[in-house]
Amino acid sequence: MISSVEKEGATMKTVDYGRLDYEYRQHHVRFRHYVESRPRKLTCQECGGAGGYTEPILDDGSGPYFDCDWCEGTGFVMPFLRGLWLRSRKL
Ligand SMILES: [Zn+2]
Repeated sequence: MISSVEKEGATMKTVDYGRLDYEYRQHHVRFRHYVESRPRKLTCQECGGAGGYTEPILDDGSGPYFDCDWCEGTGFVMPFLRGLWLRSRKL
């Protein structure tokens, strides 16, 4: 992702943000396909399988909706991620 650019005799390191964005979206698509094709689905316990949560900002309990960080909005995780989640609870 970090590429070197030769400019006026000096080498500058630049970050290819377009590439980073592409890689992130590809990861999300791969993750969603993988996790939804599993025969045994593990429910994400961080969001309870809802895939996200609403941050209550206003008095009536409404607010912006965020995708769950662990399951990326799918509501399911893979066993490896469940293990990581359990470990993060114990800390
Ligand atoms: Zn989740």
